[in-house]
Amino acid sequence: MRHPMTRAEATTLPHLIGSVKHRSTGGAIRINVNPGTGEEISSVPLDDVDAAERAVRSAANAYAGWSQTPVGDRIQHLFKYKTVLESHIEELAGIIVKEHGKTTGEAIGSVRRGIDCIEHACGAPILMMGRTLPRIAVSSSFCRTQNEGDVGLDSSVDRLPLGVCVGITPFNFPMMVPLWMWPMAVACGNTFVLKPSERDPQAAIRAIELANEAGFPEGVLNLVHGGPNVVNHLIKHDEVKAVSFVGSTQAGKYIYSTGSAHDKRVQCMCGAKNFSIIMPDANRGAAIDGVFGSAFGNTGQRCLAGSVVVAVGDAADWLVPGLAERAESVVVGKGDDKGTQMGPLQDPAARDRVLQYIGQGVEEGACLVVDGRTASMPSEGCFVGPTIFDNTTSAMSIVREEIFGPVLSVMRAQTLDEAVAFVNESEYGNMSVLFTDSGHAAHRFETTVQAGMIGINVGVPAPMAAFPFAGWKKSFFGDLHTNGEDGVRFFTKSRVTVRRWI
Ligand code: NAD
Repeated sequence: MRHPMTRAEATTLPHLIGSVKHRSTGGAIRINVNPGTGEEISSVPLDDVDAAERAVRSAANAYAGWSQTPVGDRIQHLFKYKTVLESHIEELAGIIVKEHGKTTGEAIGSVRRGIDCIEHACGAPILMMGRTLPRIAVSSSFCRTQNEGDVGLDSSVDRLPLGVCVGITPFNFPMMVPLWMWPMAVACGNTFVLKPSERDPQAAIRAIELANEAGFPEGVLNLVHGGPNVVNHLIKHDEVKAVSFVGSTQAGKYIYSTGSAHDKRVQCMCGAKNFSIIMPDANRGAAIDGVFGSAFGNTGQRCLAGSVVVAVGDAADWLVPGLAERAESVVVGKGDDKGTQMGPLQDPAARDRVLQYIGQGVEEGACLVVDGRTASMPSEGCFVGPTIFDNTTSAMSIVREEIFGPVLSVMRAQTLDEAVAFVNESEYGNMSVLFTDSGHAAHRFETTVQAGMIGINVGVPAPMAAFPFAGWKKSFFGDLHTNGEDGVRFFTKSRVTVRRWI
């Protein structure tokens, strides 16, 4: 790939600390390219630990005032922010298309799903509400004074903010995933430091700039760039009380154990290998659409991508030709070109990793039905077309490992139970779906499959923000999932008060 700009010409992106842009001077940087064209578009500081320290200090200084601001006043900023974001959807989607490579439609959809999280966080006055039970007991006789009589004890539990919270986010939803975290965190009275992916941080920068313009007080929201050294500084910092991470299992496991060892509350939403099961009685059109969209939407770069499909009985007879026909006709191109149905991988390393897995699948003996290496696609940029392997087995790396690209592996099973056993063998457990017309099969699936998010006749069972989002097994480390009621509990601590009036 050609890189027409030099490093010096590429723009170094700023940190946002206390509402002010800070530029790093010197230190390691990462150069990012537009994956649709291969042009250099930005450089990102990787090792600016001083900036991370200033970001935490800024958040810590803002905490006293923000946590004492009434929740009804805090959410006014979110109401305003929601309308600001709505009027900037196209601008934000344009940044995502250029830096990440999503199609314009996918980018707009991802901003809208982020706004869903803001709407949910606007419910904080109700979501944070405590509980109370009057006269839960009477004073026990040994502590009762003579004149006290039969005095009742009242009890209540309140939910209170934690302090400075940190978010560490992946490249694949650069706008939406940060919004899983900070709107609920700040609505609950915490202040926040976001460390976005170094691969495509510009949408997050613009989103925080817009939040500052929407009136969040100085220091409530801070953004710092970096790689592992910066993350380490944040997750070990005394002032940091909670860490929310989304990304690979390898990084998540490290962040969970290191953050916990430094007394943080940590939740890590991690990698995945997701299975879709197709029964012979499934609605064929819906199953083909569902599997296809799940495997190849966002160019397969989704933690909810259904990258393995298990065809039960004779379902493969119509499923495989149906999927192949769709894959061969997909228009692969730049995300903002009219008519593009699938964009590029996010960077050259991601493209090369996917190409390597396709080669490995062939070597392992899988049957290559559609070869994305030979698809019609632009010659510059990080493109690989939709790829389908048939007759794969759970011994193959293309079935076991997360490829995070447009590669679908088809397995075959005689029965639903055999198909579910394939799903349950996986070390991951993010999501699984079943396509069927049978209530009995659906019930059997729901009661036996091991995954945190499941769907019936739905290709991508992505929970809306009012519901928790996370997987099981090596797809998640922690107790409380992101979003939903879990999100409120993660960003607050409970306190019980027992009182009596004598
Ligand atoms: P990644 O793990 O490489 O990076 C995620 C974040 O962690 C980045 O901010 C990165 O700077 C940081 N990081 C990476 N390695 C680190 C290390 N050794 N020490 C400290 N910090 C480190 O993930 P990615 O490639 O950006 O994103 C893709 C992964 O995210 C996939 O595995 C995907 O399944 C997963 N993901 C999971 C969910 C979910 O909800 N479970 C959602 C989206 C993405």
